[in-house]
Amino acid sequence: MIRRHSVLAALAIAVVSLAGGTHAAFAADKVCKLEISGNDAMQYDKKELDVAADCTQVELTLTHAGKLPAAAMGHNWVLVKTADVTTVANAGMAAGLANNYLTPNDPHVIAATKVIGGGQTATVTFPTSKLTKGGDYTYLCTFPGHYVIMKGIFKFG
Ligand code: ZN
Repeated sequence: MIRRHSVLAALAIAVVSLAGGTHAAFAADKVCKLEISGNDAMQYDKKELDVAADCTQVELTLTHAGKLPAAAMGHNWVLVKTADVTTVANAGMAAGLANNYLTPNDPHVIAATKVIGGGQTATVTFPTSKLTKGGDYTYLCTFPGHYVIMKGIFKFG
């Protein structure tokens, strides 16, 4: 009888899990929100972003606080391993604005927003399972020439 009860209990848990529906229903999921902005002077407002070790998802919102259009002063937010900054920036330059200055499906890109112009915002959400705690990461803008100034340190854990 004990055995049968535990089977029923397991079934009950499974039903509750299914009923929970969306991903956010799982208590273990912790979405950590970050904000950064870029301006018409080709600058981000932050030089470093930190994500705590217990975050399971990161939701990054980029705001373009300037007025210039994306074609003239576009900004995106792209997360890569620090060792990949030059590779991703050069490939992005060649890819053009139509591709948000990123090579489509570039395996070096961990997360990225689209390119935006003045007054616009863009958000990207990604799981921290893509990151290693204590890893060496950099975020950058891949609009041609911007990454020399528009980059910062990204820390996880
Ligand atoms: Zn930029």
